[in-house]
Amino acid sequence: MPLISLADMLKTARAGKFGVGAFNGVDSHYIDAIFDAAKRLSSPIIINVAEVHLKFFELEDMAAYVRYKASASNLPVTLNLDHGLTMPTVMRALEAGFTSVMFDGSHLPYEENVRQTAEVVKLAHARGISVEGELGAVGGDEGGNLEGAADVALYTDTEQAVDYVRSTGIDALAVAIGNSHGKYKGVPKLDFDRLAVLNQRMPVPLVLHGGSGLSVDDFQRSISLGIAKINFFTGMSQAALDAMASGLADDEIARKYDHYLFTMQRVRKGVSEAVAEQMRIFGSVDKASHYAA
Ligand SMILES: [Zn+2]
Repeated sequence: MPLISLADMLKTARAGKFGVGAFNGVDSHYIDAIFDAAKRLSSPIIINVAEVHLKFFELEDMAAYVRYKASASNLPVTLNLDHGLTMPTVMRALEAGFTSVMFDGSHLPYEENVRQTAEVVKLAHARGISVEGELGAVGGDEGGNLEGAADVALYTDTEQAVDYVRSTGIDALAVAIGNSHGKYKGVPKLDFDRLAVLNQRMPVPLVLHGGSGLSVDDFQRSISLGIAKINFFTGMSQAALDAMASGLADDEIARKYDHYLFTMQRVRKGVSEAVAEQMRIFGSVDKASHYAA
């Protein structure tokens, strides 16, 4: 089916009390792996394409491939620009057929974050495209160092979040409640009290970044407290690297002419299994039928 907006994706997720995984597409193997898992488990999916990864591939190539894969399937799929940092990249995504853009102005002074996010909302909504904003700062360094930790001083402030959502018109809000990108330093501890208050006060669905490394209980509690989209990438990368190492070390396939293809087949399977495991935890299995075709 054609791609759907993030607003439509998350409205159904919230009503059905499940979370939808947002998995990063970085090449065709990853995208195939995500679709394999979604088809097998009849799950809705969000494909993330991150601005920090644009040094590795073209945004338009990835968008075309995801659009094709979605149209050839019966799955509800949203294509989201992950951590859009600059206006030119946001514009490219709006032109390339993305159905959602995340604008990450969380590093900006508050007033400037509001001003720039509102501008993105105006441009996106005119095209029927959703916008995710972020307030507070999720720990870690996406696309940078692998290990990260969250800083309590940068957790999302509830009163400011109410003002931010109202002033910008965003469709979903990424919150900072102790979550962190990459691998967690130590055991992650989420501030569920803060999440409960945010959920009560926010008119829009909430988003959790830094999904790799959280426990099943963390995810399920988060979803029960209004998290509808969960970003997951580091765990996929680890699965891909493990599968690649096993393929390279396997004498059986190393003797074959198509050693590379056999190895990448394992990567696709490994990533697909990592994605499927998250779908089960997020409760999105068999939820594709909740979306109108
Ligand atoms: Zn993120």
